[in-house]
Amino acid sequence: MIRPTTNDRLRLIRDKVEARQRLSLEDGLFLYEPATPLNEVGELANLVRERINGNHGYYNINTHLNPTNICVYRCTFCAFRSDLRDPKGYAMSDQQILERGREAVENGCTEMHIVGGLHHQRGYDWYVHLVRILHEAYPKLHLKAWTGVEINWFEFLSKKSVREILEDLIDAGLGSMPGGGAEIFHPEVRHKICEHKADAGKWFEIHRTAHQLGLKTNCTMLYGHIENAYHRIDHLLRLRELQDETGGFQTFIPLAFHPENTGLAHLKKPSALLDLRTMAISRLMLDNVPHIKAYWIMLGIGTAQAALGYGADDLDGTVRHELIYHDAGATTPEVLSVDEIRRLITAAGREPVERDTLYRRVQRDADRPREWSVGEPLLV
Ligand code: SF4
Repeated sequence: MIRPTTNDRLRLIRDKVEARQRLSLEDGLFLYEPATPLNEVGELANLVRERINGNHGYYNINTHLNPTNICVYRCTFCAFRSDLRDPKGYAMSDQQILERGREAVENGCTEMHIVGGLHHQRGYDWYVHLVRILHEAYPKLHLKAWTGVEINWFEFLSKKSVREILEDLIDAGLGSMPGGGAEIFHPEVRHKICEHKADAGKWFEIHRTAHQLGLKTNCTMLYGHIENAYHRIDHLLRLRELQDETGGFQTFIPLAFHPENTGLAHLKKPSALLDLRTMAISRLMLDNVPHIKAYWIMLGIGTAQAALGYGADDLDGTVRHELIYHDAGATTPEVLSVDEIRRLITAAGREPVERDTLYRRVQRDADRPREWSVGEPLLV
């Protein structure tokens, strides 16, 4: 029997993509093979990207809040966490949290991204309370808060169901959920890098429940450590399956592993080539997720900019106060100005579009740039 060549297999995949047919596990593995030309994988991803999002290059004006870095868990890839009595450990006061809200609003932010550690001594009420005080003080600021791993911790603390917890948080002002805590779902890897935290089944239960309650959520994959191509494609297929069921994921964010100061410091950072290949394959496999984000903090600005031609349609935001990846050695700036992020998108040949968390166009008054309003959803 004559074995199909790389070109034959690529042609079959191209036919599928052009016919809007779904790619299989085997297709995904083939696209990860080093012999499969990266530029061709990128070209296919770009086709899907432009079909869904046109020439838009999205960004938002956002800030991060990590209320505590003290964490009961010890994920091997994490450089952010601290022990309870470590001098590096902190837990923010209400006043400090509200000050961050004030700063965000004064800088025109539309979103606050809130994630942190699972503090040994803070009760469930503290986590709900801080959403509530922020929302009461700054009701227009969208609060995208708590990963599936944190919601699972709240189950332990409160003895409530996932649904009850999410209802409490929505009542307090939660606007949506970030996609963290997904790491790599496959147990072969998950047991080695974060054995104690929510497993894949729990992570999906939480996101499914959030979607059923009308919350939009994001989803992520931490790659470039001990996983292989099979684990990555398996991860993407699991996400695609839930998205078929609920349609609640807005954005997929492939997160490039940063080894510095982690339990995996002996590993090398993933290469820009793996970053771009993973971005493109994510766009191709997740045919039902509207947005793919090139998170510039982790990728570096140059790779994130290039990723806008490899399937990504979003650079994330201006990002004030990012700690998690800078603790792990990210050398990117701590914040980008709006002019800078727009320049990066334009230089990549895309049209910069400011969006809010729910991907609606943000309109600003040129004379009062801190004031903003939103229009209709932006999908083309
Ligand atoms: S990744 Fe999150 S859960 Fe794991 S140790 Fe770090 S802060 Fe804790």
